[in-house]
Amino acid sequence: MGFRVSVIIPAYNEKDNIPFLFKELKEKLDKDYEIVFVDDGSDDGSYELAIEEAKKYNNIKILKHLKNQGKTQAILTGLEAAEGDIICIYDADLQFLPEDIINLVKKMDEGYDLVCGYKVGKYEKKLVSKIYNFLARLLFKLPVRDINALKVMKKEVLLNMKLRKDWHRYIVPLAHYLGYRIGEMPVKLRKRMFGLPKYSSKKRIIIGFFDLLAVAFQLTFLKKPMLYFGTIGLFSLLLGLLIGLISIILRILGHGYRPLLYLVILLILAGILFFSLGLIGEVQASIVERLEDIEKKIK
Ligand code: UDP
Ligand code: MG
Repeated sequence: MGFRVSVIIPAYNEKDNIPFLFKELKEKLDKDYEIVFVDDGSDDGSYELAIEEAKKYNNIKILKHLKNQGKTQAILTGLEAAEGDIICIYDADLQFLPEDIINLVKKMDEGYDLVCGYKVGKYEKKLVSKIYNFLARLLFKLPVRDINALKVMKKEVLLNMKLRKDWHRYIVPLAHYLGYRIGEMPVKLRKRMFGLPKYSSKKRIIIGFFDLLAVAFQLTFLKKPMLYFGTIGLFSLLLGLLIGLISIILRILGHGYRPLLYLVILLILAGILFFSLGLIGEVQASIVERLEDIEKKIK
């Protein structure tokens, strides 16, 4: 018997939530669903408790990391054990409703490869979430408004992307980039049941922001380095030459202006630098592409 949906639950020190988590999910989800609980190196006894609690039900897999590796890695570990063709990523703190998992899965039938929820109503850190989503939409031209709520997707979507540490926040932009069809529907966000959030707000904002740039960089600049760096380089070079010409004319007319000369040097050097970056970028992009081809063939 196969499952249709694997609900992957990354969990780091979520002991108090575990009994409610399994109980609530098992009450709401039918036999099409399996639960893949991944203990991400907790030191509060979450793993042992999960093993105990899971005995009360069937179709709960419990995996563990020996040390804390972060949510993204926990998701990937769960993915290896997941049997369903559809994957749901569900937080252990019960912030999202199990009913919404079912709703999102139903929406997949409309022909989507990934369906994400967007949070409605009042919730904590709403402003941060809004700004962050605004930036992400701007950078990635996304068709959806919230990339950080509950989501459900075909397993192949996750298998086809390379998720680096902390990149679980960018599953939606990466899927969009790969050409998958993405849908959305409203979901509710509750308060964390027990325990503390695992990412402090400040840390989350900083890491999130740099990852946002890193992902954007990877999907644009690093795919076509010469196009971007080369354009900037060429622009800088031409501007340098033009201003150089102007300063020569000024000098001939009798009033040379030294600061202009510095500007010329700056622009030309920057131009050469950007151009070289473009060239080096091209070399590494072609290496990456060939590696990806090899990876695909091995699979
Ligand atoms: N989590 C994890 N490893 C970590 C940090 C978090 O597996 O290193 C899990 C955590 O236990 C929770 C989920 O990732 O199930 C989301 O974390 P949290 O609720 O703290 O984030 P927030 O809801 O504030 O985005
Ligand atoms: Mg949470």
